[in-house]
Amino acid sequence: MGLLVVGSVALDSVETPFGRIDDALGGSALFFASAASLLYQRVRVVGVVGRDYPMNGLDSLRARGVDLAGVTMADGESFRWAGRYGFDLSTRETLDTRLGVFAQFKPRIPEEFRESRFVFLGNIDPELQLDVLQQVRKPEFVACDTMNYWIQGAASRVSLLKLLKHVDCLMLNDSEIRELSGDWHIQRAARWVIAHGPRYVVIKKGEHGAVLVGEGNVFYVPAFPLEDVFDPTGAGDAFAGGFMAHIAKSGNTSPANLRLAMVYGSAMGSFAVERFSIQRFAEIGPQDVMARVRASQELVHFERDFE
Ligand code: AMP
Repeated sequence: MGLLVVGSVALDSVETPFGRIDDALGGSALFFASAASLLYQRVRVVGVVGRDYPMNGLDSLRARGVDLAGVTMADGESFRWAGRYGFDLSTRETLDTRLGVFAQFKPRIPEEFRESRFVFLGNIDPELQLDVLQQVRKPEFVACDTMNYWIQGAASRVSLLKLLKHVDCLMLNDSEIRELSGDWHIQRAARWVIAHGPRYVVIKKGEHGAVLVGEGNVFYVPAFPLEDVFDPTGAGDAFAGGFMAHIAKSGNTSPANLRLAMVYGSAMGSFAVERFSIQRFAEIGPQDVMARVRASQELVHFERDFE
């Protein structure tokens, strides 16, 4: 069936209260693929890197069966992002965004990827996200991410609204959905999104978990309670990786299965934040993911026998 992701492949410089790292492997496509490949074998990545990119850094993904045939190398520097987190780890300041080869990025989906039934459009220009969709033959379930930058731009907002008519699920964080809908109230904002096209919306709320709204239902998944959080970068994309990989692996887009996909997403988000970059995903296997999914089930299980 195949799960296609298009997004950034970046070099991230991150400062947290616990340490810093420079030019670490990052980007939405990389976090997504690192998480998704723990659950599903046919993950395909489309992105662009510059001549300076350490390609051997991608070996761990290749070893997990990720198809990187859509990652091209262009003349110029790789996309670089730098950010700093405050003590509560939920506020992030972007210090620098250097587009490099990403500025000219025109995703070309390799022929063998065009059959992909499941598609994740990582956070890039909505015009490019639309262009990607036109190249995929018959996707069964399309999810997309976005960010404030595209919501705020007059032209990109128009493209984003056009894109929403073609996606099944929009995934974004609470501040982004408030900004997009112009409504501070999350449930009303979710209804606003659904009125503009997607059947589902996933609202990520960091340490407070995530909410799935759609098909007349609301489902809440808590964030896994970790002893330590180290670096929140990429949690949203890893969440999307777990969510989409579960859907692709099961081939089931029913509302009940999407609830379970939320739990896989939450588990992957929790792994992402335990180390810098994609490091944690190299240390774990599918059995660790399953253990966290089971623990999440326990976390929200309750009896009504005492009423
Ligand atoms: P998240 O923490 O899930 O929002 O994702 C963080 C990742 O997004 C980092 O690895 C960055 O390299 C990447 N990123 C940051 N800004 C952008 C941007 N404008 N376009 C694409 N990717 C970005």
